[in-house]
Amino acid sequence: MKTLLFTLDPWNPDPVVLKESADVIRRGGLVAFPTETVYGLGANALDPEAVKKIYAAKGRPSDNPLILHLSRPEQAEYLVYMDDRARRLMAAFWPGPLTLVLKARDVIPPVTRGGLDTAALRMPDHPIASALIEASGCPLAAPSANVSGRPSPTDAQTVWQDLQGRVDRVLDGGPVRVGIESTVVDISTERPLLLRPGGMSREILEEFLGVPLGVPDGQSKRRSPGTRYRHYAPAVPVKIWSPGDPLELEEGYSPSEWAFMGLSEPPAHFGYVLRFASVENYARGVFTGFRTLETVWKGIVAEWPPESGVGLGLRDRILRAASISEGE
Ligand code: AMP
Ligand code: MG
Repeated sequence: MKTLLFTLDPWNPDPVVLKESADVIRRGGLVAFPTETVYGLGANALDPEAVKKIYAAKGRPSDNPLILHLSRPEQAEYLVYMDDRARRLMAAFWPGPLTLVLKARDVIPPVTRGGLDTAALRMPDHPIASALIEASGCPLAAPSANVSGRPSPTDAQTVWQDLQGRVDRVLDGGPVRVGIESTVVDISTERPLLLRPGGMSREILEEFLGVPLGVPDGQSKRRSPGTRYRHYAPAVPVKIWSPGDPLELEEGYSPSEWAFMGLSEPPAHFGYVLRFASVENYARGVFTGFRTLETVWKGIVAEWPPESGVGLGLRDRILRAASISEGE
């Protein structure tokens, strides 16, 4: 398959490119596009054949459900069973990096939801994403636009590296703002559950809901299969370092052959230091950092960030990148 790449101005995207991209979606094709979190690989969420192509292009396990991307909150009404709490959350936090899991209506094909009776919905905060969804006239199923297991793409060049030849189009809208995926909250049951920490802070959600978010136990982990898989892994080992702790590298490795990424003064003389001025910048740069550093250095020491705000989601991504075998 020949992949076409288009560069778009996010604030004034070319209407012809958008219309043609929407035609590709309506004909069952794949279009990668920017969102505020990471780049997504989109297909018509209501067309099972199109959705199967997403799993094939990414090499993604078919029990890992996809998020449906909307351009307006009202579109949720015909896709899932809504209640007041869902409407209030959407009114408060959409568009934005919050994905809500609700009981699915039958219009959503099982393949899109990984065979579950729930579906995950989000309204991205990005003008190209909104315009593409609106022009397509259907929700877009869109996981991150990378090969399954690799660090997520935060720019179009990375999408191109991973998916060139496997998708119809890549829309380049420049680097993303948040840099890690959305926060996923299950509100299909009485007690809201934080299935995946991400771009939207847990503290803000809990303050809004007036209750602490539950965390998944073994059973609800099965209900959100993606959380089982090893993810986001660069090609070289990742070690986590907490400020104040001694640095532990395996026998035979010297820090001069490794790279450091984080917020603090590094604990040794590293071959390369990627230091961020804030935890938000760290989240925005973590995936590209992994992909850049893996090509030169023998390993990466990643600083364990503070837990608040986007730090919780960043911790999750670093932990998964560092874990050697977890599932898959
Ligand atoms: P990704 O597209 O890689 O960002 O992953 C989407 C993630 O959202 C999945 O791996 C799940 O953890 C979660 N998710 C999507 N749909 C559902 C659902 N119906 N129920 C629970 N979790 C879901
Ligand atoms: Mg992903």
